[in-house]
Amino acid sequence: MKKDDHKTADITCPIYKSWRELPHIPVSIGQKGSIGETGDWRTFRPEIDKKQCNKCGICYVYCPDGVILFSEGSVPEIDYTYCKGCGICKVKCPKKAIEMIQERE
Ligand code: SF4
Ligand code: SF4
Repeated sequence: MKKDDHKTADITCPIYKSWRELPHIPVSIGQKGSIGETGDWRTFRPEIDKKQCNKCGICYVYCPDGVILFSEGSVPEIDYTYCKGCGICKVKCPKKAIEMIQERE
């Protein structure tokens, strides 16, 4: 085996402007609170910059716990009682409008 055999290919990911543009993807339907209230043990919390947000709804689709509340044309809201702070919403946000802020005790 040569040294470069495990080299990762360059992959270009498309940038979506709205959740409506997403291809059919196998996302699960989030179940709010399926692992209990997570607000007590979360280390980082996502915060949405309302000025930066373009109201695309992509974070809402990708949140595995279904704790992002979204209606068309509005900035989403996060239910911190159940958000576990995984950061998926931050990674998927095309506008980089979500920051993960460290929780204080
Ligand atoms: S941090 Fe995770 S659980 Fe919380 S809103 Fe974002 S995707 Fe959902
Ligand atoms: S926070 Fe990001 S992903 Fe969520 S609606 Fe706003 S721009 Fe879209």
